[in-house]
Amino acid sequence: MGKEQTIQTTCPYCGVGCGVLATPQADGTVSIEGDSNHPANLGRLCSKGSALGETVDHGNRLLHPKIDGKRVPWDEALNTVSRKFNDIIAKHGPNAIGFYVSGQILTEDYYTANKLMKGFIGSANIDTNSRLCMSSAVAGYKRAFGSDSVPCSYEDLEQADLLVITGSNLAWCHPVIFQRIRQAKEDRPEMKVVVIDPRTTATCDLADLHLPLRPGSDASLFNGLLNYLKKEDYLDLDFLEQHTEGFSAALKAAKTSAGNIPQVSAVTELPEQDIIKFYQLFASTEKVITLYSQGVNQSTSGTDKSNSIINCHLATGRLGKPAMGPFSMTGQPNAMGGREVGGLSNQLAAHMEITNPEHHDRVSRFWETDRLATENGAKAVDLFNDVGEGKIKAVWIMATNPVVSLPDADKVKAALEQCELVVVSECESNTDTTELADILLPAAAWGEKDGTVTNSERRISHQRQFLIAPGEARPDWWIITQVARKMGFEKAFPFEKPVDVFREHARLSAFENNGSRDFDLSGLAEISDEAYEKLAPIQWPVSDNAPAGTARLFTDYQFFTPNGKARMVPIEPKLPENKTSDDYPLVLNTGRIRDQWHTMTRTGRAVRLNAHIPEPMVQIHPVDAQNWGLVDGALAQVSSKLGKMIVRVVITDEQRPGSVFVPIHWSNQSASLARVDALVAAVVDPISGQPESKHTPVKIRPYQPV
Ligand code: SF4
Repeated sequence: MGKEQTIQTTCPYCGVGCGVLATPQADGTVSIEGDSNHPANLGRLCSKGSALGETVDHGNRLLHPKIDGKRVPWDEALNTVSRKFNDIIAKHGPNAIGFYVSGQILTEDYYTANKLMKGFIGSANIDTNSRLCMSSAVAGYKRAFGSDSVPCSYEDLEQADLLVITGSNLAWCHPVIFQRIRQAKEDRPEMKVVVIDPRTTATCDLADLHLPLRPGSDASLFNGLLNYLKKEDYLDLDFLEQHTEGFSAALKAAKTSAGNIPQVSAVTELPEQDIIKFYQLFASTEKVITLYSQGVNQSTSGTDKSNSIINCHLATGRLGKPAMGPFSMTGQPNAMGGREVGGLSNQLAAHMEITNPEHHDRVSRFWETDRLATENGAKAVDLFNDVGEGKIKAVWIMATNPVVSLPDADKVKAALEQCELVVVSECESNTDTTELADILLPAAAWGEKDGTVTNSERRISHQRQFLIAPGEARPDWWIITQVARKMGFEKAFPFEKPVDVFREHARLSAFENNGSRDFDLSGLAEISDEAYEKLAPIQWPVSDNAPAGTARLFTDYQFFTPNGKARMVPIEPKLPENKTSDDYPLVLNTGRIRDQWHTMTRTGRAVRLNAHIPEPMVQIHPVDAQNWGLVDGALAQVSSKLGKMIVRVVITDEQRPGSVFVPIHWSNQSASLARVDALVAAVVDPISGQPESKHTPVKIRPYQPV
C-alpha cells in the first residue's frame, strides 16, 4: 500500500471483470491502467474503468456509524443492530428480518451475509440486486443443465464464426468484451455478427444483420429457429439422442407458436427475408455463440426466453466445444460470486438448494447449525412488499440503492419509511436509501478492502486494497461478522481476515462433493494466506482434476441433471405482461448508458464521465416525437400509471417507433423527478422473480413548469 507501488486489482463496475493496475501517487491521486496479464481484458479498459482514479476522493463518504442521524461509536451501532434483530426475532420469528445485498459486494462479504441470515438467523429472506440483472439466466441454466453454469469463456466469443448478440448493448454495457469482438472481427472478416435488439445501439456497428424485433418477442424468434433447424434437417440427432431429453415436447411447442416464417414475422414484426437470413446463418455455421443479457432476462418470461435460446444450441449439439454455446453476461462485477455463495433467496451456498433435504443436511452439518432456513425466502420485489406489509420488520440493505433501482420505487420508499428498523451499510453518506436509514454503517469502498469477485466467464479475481479507508469505514464481511458475534453466533463467525472466509467458502464447495456438483473449489480449499494474496485469475471449477481451472464446461456432455442429460424445455412464448393502451401508448425501455454505473454514486464523481450524457434523457423516434409535440433538446414529462419523471428529449431514428428509452442512473439526489424506476411496474417472471424493466406502458408530453 505504499505510495507509487502498483497493485493488481479488478474493476468494480461490470461483469466483464477487467484487471486493473492501480498506482497510488504521492499527491493522493491514483493512476489506473489496464492489466495486460488479466485474461478478461488483456490490458484494455473502457471509459468507466479508465476513469477509476478520478472516483477515489472522499467527498460525500459516510465516515462514521450513525443512529438516527447522530454519530455513535462502532460498538454502540453494532450492539444496537444485533440487540434489535434479536428482539424482533424473539417477538416475530426469523422471517421478520430481511437482508437486501448487492452484486457490488465481494464474495467474502456475500458468503458471510448468507451464512448469518440463512444459517443462523434461520430465514432465507436475503436477496440481492443481482435479481434484477441475471436471475432469469440462472433459472434457465438450471432448467436446462441442472446447474447454474455458464458453459463458455470470453475466448470462445472471439473464436466463434457466428456471434448472435441478443438483448444486450454490449458496446456500452460490457465495453471491453465488445472491443475484443471488434478486434476478432477485424482479424477474421469472415466472422458474422447478428444483433437482435428493438433499438439500433452502438453494438449494431458490428452487425452484419440487425433484427429490430418487436419488444418481448424473442422466444418466438428462437422457437421459429428450432422449428427451422428441424425442417431443414440441421439437427444433431446423435447429440439429441444421447445427451438431451425433451426434444419432442420442445419442438411441438415451437411448431405451435412459430411453425413457419410468416407466423414468426407476424409476432416479431421482422421482415421474413431477414428472419430467413438469420436462421440460415445459424443453421449453416458450426461455431455459434448466442450471447444474451438484460434484454432477455428482464422480462415476465425471461426464463423461457433463455431456454428458447439454449434449446437451439442443444438441438444442434453446439455447446461443450470451442466457440459454441449459450453465454449470458452478468451485469455486476460480482453477480456470479453471489450465485456461488447462495446470494439469491432460493439458493444455498455452493450451488446447493434450500429445499433439497440432502443439501440442507450437508450445509447444516458443515456450518454446525440447527437453524438453517428450511424454505425459500422472498425475492427482491416480494421482499420489499413484505417490508411494506409489515411482515418484515427489520431490513438490512448493503451496498445498494433500492429506492432508486427497484421497480415501483415509490412503493419501496414508502415501505422503508414505515419499517420498524432500516439498517444501511454504505460507502456514501447521501443516497435516496440512506435518507431512510435508522442506522448507518460506514462501509469500505473499492480499493480500500480486499477479497474476490467472479466475472461472467466464471473467473475469480482478486480485488486488492491499495488505499486506507477513510474515517471509520470497515469492510462488509467485518461488519457482518461483528453483528453475528454480538447476536450470539461467535463460534460460527471466527473470521479475522477475508482469506478465512474464502477458505471456508471453498471448503464448503468440496464438503462431501466427490465431483457430484458443478460448483467445485476443492483445489482452493486449503489455500494459504500467501497463495490467496497472490491468487491469479482462475475459472471455476478448480479441483484435483482441473488445478488450473476450467475454461469450458460440458466437454464430456455430462450435465448436472439426475440422468446426466440436458433438458430441452417446451416454450410457449408470452408477450410482456404490461400492455400499452390508449392512455399509455408507448413502451418504456430502461437500461444503461456508456459512461455511468448504477445510481452514479461513483461514476458521477468523474467530470469526463458526466460529460457524455449529463442529465436524464428520453430517446424517441422522430415520428413519435412529432405525434406528441416534442422538440429535440426540450424537456418532456414521461408518466406511467405509477409515477412520472422529467427528462431531456433526444429525437433519434435509432429508437423503434412506439417505444422510448430512458437510462436507469439518475436519482432524486442528482435531479428532481429523475428516478425512472418510479415508473416501472413491479411485475416479475414467475420462475426467476426478475422484474420486467424493459416494457412499461407510458405516455409523454412536453414539460411545462408551473
Ligand atoms: Fe470495468 Fe466493465 Fe469497463 Fe472492464 S468493461 S473496465 S469491468 S466497466
